[in-house]
Amino acid sequence: MTRTAIVADRRFMAHVAGRHHPERPERIAAMIEMTEHLNRANLKRYLPREATPAEIELCHSRAYIGEVERTARLEHFDFDPDTHTSAATWETARLAVGGVLTAVEAVADGDVENAFAIVRPPGHHARPDQAMGFCFFNNVAVAAQWLATHHGIKRILILDWDVHHGNGTQEMFYASPEVLYMSLHQYPFYPGTGWFDEVGVGRGTGFTINAPIPATFGDPEYLQIFDAVLLPIARQFAPDFVLISAGFDCHFRDPLGGMRVTENGFTAMTRRLHRLAAETCNGKLVAVLEGGYDLEGLAAGGRSVIEELGRDPDERIAAAEGAQRALPLIERMRHYLEPHWQLP
Ligand SMILES: [Zn+2]
Repeated sequence: MTRTAIVADRRFMAHVAGRHHPERPERIAAMIEMTEHLNRANLKRYLPREATPAEIELCHSRAYIGEVERTARLEHFDFDPDTHTSAATWETARLAVGGVLTAVEAVADGDVENAFAIVRPPGHHARPDQAMGFCFFNNVAVAAQWLATHHGIKRILILDWDVHHGNGTQEMFYASPEVLYMSLHQYPFYPGTGWFDEVGVGRGTGFTINAPIPATFGDPEYLQIFDAVLLPIARQFAPDFVLISAGFDCHFRDPLGGMRVTENGFTAMTRRLHRLAAETCNGKLVAVLEGGYDLEGLAAGGRSVIEELGRDPDERIAAAEGAQRALPLIERMRHYLEPHWQLP
């Protein structure tokens, strides 16, 4: 079986967020061009389908979906100072949700083991009733809800390493014990949420995990947070499906983010999640493009993830080390999470 699917389409370039906007069509061109240099034998290529309004309604209100739909008649519309539409936004945003559904469907049906969905506009800031942070519909959140609704999948892990906190995704599953949402993000930074003490509510308490990290952290610190906190909790949760909100704005070249993650870091984070998925759910994993605004860093990071997904998950994982700077942060995470999880 071909291990990895790629969902991609130049139609994702149709949405224009504004002149000189960092979330630009060229991001998709850079990613597609990168995939053309990958070993074709290991990859199955899919075109995205459009999500139906009923599918988008899994996470968004009908009234808000109507608001986005109405922008299709306008040259442009501003939802907020960062988040602008063009006439093609409605169609492109539906296609982005549908592209992630195409990827999770291929994996859930067993056509491939894992997949990478190259989509835009991104999704993780989109709230049930509100566009924000370049996002209109929450692609990953709809996919998680769709897996639960249409495939009866009970436990879904969403790991979000985009440099920004995925406030929309957190909000949608804040009270749910079925979706474990973990985010590593720069703090203080846009959108301002994602502090240690945001751990969920009601039955969902303990199922939201935030690592608000200072600028300048890089591979050693990210991996130490994975090994000391995130992976031990993810193993106890034992997901039936793993989703990655894969933003590449934590890459060291990114003009918006202040982090220092390299290609090796993306490979190592993916390897850990790939191994986890192999242990708990026959390797079912889908990575979804979120942010990433340096075209070179974006393509290099994307290549690292896709190549790693094509490898054998049993390959050796070197222990994270040399990250003294991460220890105080790990201690604070432990403080908030120990009531809910066994930590080493
Ligand atoms: Zn981002």
